[in-house]
Amino acid sequence: MSFTLPDLPYAYNALEPHIDERTMEIHHDKHHAAYVAKLNAALEGHADLEGRSIEDLLADLDQLPEGIRTAVRNNGGGHYNHTMFWEIMAPGGPRGTFEEIGTAVDSLISGFKGFVKLLGTFGSFEAFQEQFNAAGVGRFGSGWAWLTVDAGGALAVESTPNQDTPIMDGRTPILGCDVWEHAYYLKYQNRRPDYLQAWWNVVNWHEVAKRYQAATS
Ligand code: MN
Repeated sequence: MSFTLPDLPYAYNALEPHIDERTMEIHHDKHHAAYVAKLNAALEGHADLEGRSIEDLLADLDQLPEGIRTAVRNNGGGHYNHTMFWEIMAPGGPRGTFEEIGTAVDSLISGFKGFVKLLGTFGSFEAFQEQFNAAGVGRFGSGWAWLTVDAGGALAVESTPNQDTPIMDGRTPILGCDVWEHAYYLKYQNRRPDYLQAWWNVVNWHEVAKRYQAATS
């Protein structure tokens, strides 16, 4: 059984100037690659787990042998989180308020305006962003900020430490921002709030809406 490092869906420099080329190169080729290698090493010799998806493994960590549980949690979580992270970013995405973004991509994804309206349950696009940024800035040490959807279709902003992921608690992440220092330190040093602010410019809303639809259909 073996997981593989997915290719970046764009060039290393595609998210410039918001996320720099060197950071993307190290983040994908070194950090993500290491999570995949260590996950595969942990699973070696566990033929009973062969064929299980990464989501299945993470959703049911208690079912794993105790000796590999932490390794799968950290490295499997790292693999799952980063695979999603690359996909929910894209160069040249729509900009502006939620309404503007919704209008810009409504012709491409039916129902996106409904999703935008749902995000309005946070009060406004700006209020949602503020809540999300606060989750990222407030995470002490390393971790992630998320927008998740639960089994009933409700949206929530949350944060996890390390490489933990909301699917460990039965919620599906549809947008996530990596706030480990390795995600921003070369360009932003200690200025995590500046990184989070810039990151909104590279969110791939098409992918977020697709993930919302998949999680609720
Ligand atoms: Mn990372």
